[in-house]
Amino acid sequence: MKIGIVGAGMVGASAAYAITLLGSAREIVLVDINAGLAHAQAEDIAHALPFAARGNVRAGDYAALDGAAIVIIAAGVSQKPGESRLDLLARNAEVFRAVVDATLSAAPDALLLIASNPVDVMTGITTRLSGLPASRVIGSGTILDTARFRHLIGQHLGVDPRSIHAYVLGEHGDSEVLAWSSARVGALPLAEAAANMHAPITDAVRAEVDRGVRGAAERIIKAKGATFFGIGAGLARLVSAIGNDERSVHSVSVLTPQVMGVADAPVSIPRVIGRTGVISDLMPDLDAGEAEALAVSARLMSALLAEVDL
Ligand code: ADP
Repeated sequence: MKIGIVGAGMVGASAAYAITLLGSAREIVLVDINAGLAHAQAEDIAHALPFAARGNVRAGDYAALDGAAIVIIAAGVSQKPGESRLDLLARNAEVFRAVVDATLSAAPDALLLIASNPVDVMTGITTRLSGLPASRVIGSGTILDTARFRHLIGQHLGVDPRSIHAYVLGEHGDSEVLAWSSARVGALPLAEAAANMHAPITDAVRAEVDRGVRGAAERIIKAKGATFFGIGAGLARLVSAIGNDERSVHSVSVLTPQVMGVADAPVSIPRVIGRTGVISDLMPDLDAGEAEALAVSARLMSALLAEVDL
């Protein structure tokens, strides 16, 4: 499978690196307005190939995306310390106008994976600009928040995070919703599993996990300027799910016709992902507080998208 990545900054390059280590692409093409950067990233990542898998990583222009099955869009300006994701919107919307057009001219059959922030609105914007069905324009959304949620619950219980079934829904950002009420460990509800394991989920534990998930990006950006390894791995995971037609479940952002009564909301809910993109939405059962919080988040994202002049 051929993968294109537009934007060879930290997120795009980390995705390319993770895809390379997983061996899920025959060829990766990096495109960046800074051609020197794209070449350097491609050369550096190509040197990981002898340790990993067969494949090819190279830099190119938009025309080199020809035949790509998936194009990851990670172009744009990165979040500054203290800057909200939503403040990035105006700057990134302009970049996307040109990027989406050039990408689809070269690779009209590509499925688009959006990583640029604010990712939910950028996913909605891309869906509108591209004219593609919403199921073929997938934002990384809360895939990373969900990973952080599982990681922290797993640490608390001493259980492999891959056996924690819990999702973060809504916006990738301040209004996101940690769906505690539907969280499971194996087949047991979280509270029951936690009690069995003598590691109850007290209010203090919930608050700490909540802080851990919501504050992760800010903490990391403050200390190292950007976050990229986690999201790079998340994007690589989605590439595998699509490339292998896995039909595995991931919380990703899609311009959704209806979420909690809100129309046209670009937000994350768990969805079945395969070769054609999103195959089904799997909304978990929510308690009243979570349902209301998700409605608030969906309303925010829908209103923000409506404000963008396309
Ligand atoms: P992040 O941490 O989100 O990856 P970076 O600033 O490291 O942020 O990377 C963003 C990349 O997007 C930069 O390498 C930048 O050159 C690239 N970029 C910006 N505008 C465009 C564009 N119009 N086309 C292609 N790449 C772009």
